[in-house]
Amino acid sequence: MWDRRLTIKVSDPLDRVVDLRLREALLQIRESFGQSFTSAELRSRIPGFKTQVGIYKPAGSPHALWVRQTLKGPYSDEDLYWHPDGSWTYRYSPEEREGKSIEELHTNRGLLQCQADKTPVGVFRQVSDPTGNSTYKVMGLAYVEGFDGTHFVLRGEALDWTALPVPEQVTPVFQRFEVESPSLVESLRIQRDRRFTTVIRELYRGKCSLCTLGYRVRGRSVGLEAAHIIPIKDRGTIADVRNGLLLCQNHHALFDEFGWTPDEDLRVRIADDPEFRSSAAANHVLDWEGKTLANLPRRSEDFPAQEALKWRLAEFDRAWA
Ligand SMILES: [Zn+2]
Repeated sequence: MWDRRLTIKVSDPLDRVVDLRLREALLQIRESFGQSFTSAELRSRIPGFKTQVGIYKPAGSPHALWVRQTLKGPYSDEDLYWHPDGSWTYRYSPEEREGKSIEELHTNRGLLQCQADKTPVGVFRQVSDPTGNSTYKVMGLAYVEGFDGTHFVLRGEALDWTALPVPEQVTPVFQRFEVESPSLVESLRIQRDRRFTTVIRELYRGKCSLCTLGYRVRGRSVGLEAAHIIPIKDRGTIADVRNGLLLCQNHHALFDEFGWTPDEDLRVRIADDPEFRSSAAANHVLDWEGKTLANLPRRSEDFPAQEALKWRLAEFDRAWA
């Protein structure tokens, strides 16, 4: 029997990286997307990770392998922001030496070569936690989109890492449902869903969209989950953050049972069911009725999509009809 699943080949830009050691390092960086580590942890995790800061181009490689931004760096980098496909933009300062053009330094040239060949680089950003310890957040892999005169424009891989991210100026069309075959979606689900959760956590800054609760223990956000507005079982997309919300476990469970839903204006609707309402009386959930969701992404481009909310609302009404 011919098994279609065996013929599925996902194209991966890393397949073009011929040096196996470099490819292994890049794969590890992609795997670690969104996690934070100390330098020592990164040394044991990423092949070749030592004390390099700034742009790292291994000897003999035409390409830069990663950039490592430090809090004390001499150059001004700009803040990072997200896009609906789960990619991000980050403007990273080139290395400069008095009066030299950017092409004269081999590290900068390594990034320009990545741009020319569409070879991704790893990105690490130093962050300090409330205890004052510094760690590096792994931002995964990025494409060098260009040089804007002062900064390299780095663009993170999309949730669907097999496709290039859409150009920065374009808001991608929201596709409610997975477009690939169910078997391909199945084979990519674990990695995609983990990336989806990571990006939703970033966009909602680690707090429940409904109640704004957020807990952090030992530098990790706990008790929060990415909810799918159109569920995975209905083939709702996990390649676009506009099909998601970050919710605490309680509010996620109630959301899944249609105890509440956001309407198309992101106002909270509560099920008109006497049993649910009396059981929820001690819970704050009734206090939010009619109010706009308290915690949303900074940029309205990343808000839940109208098409997903409409779908949810119809299901909500059907559940209580
Ligand atoms: Zn909550």
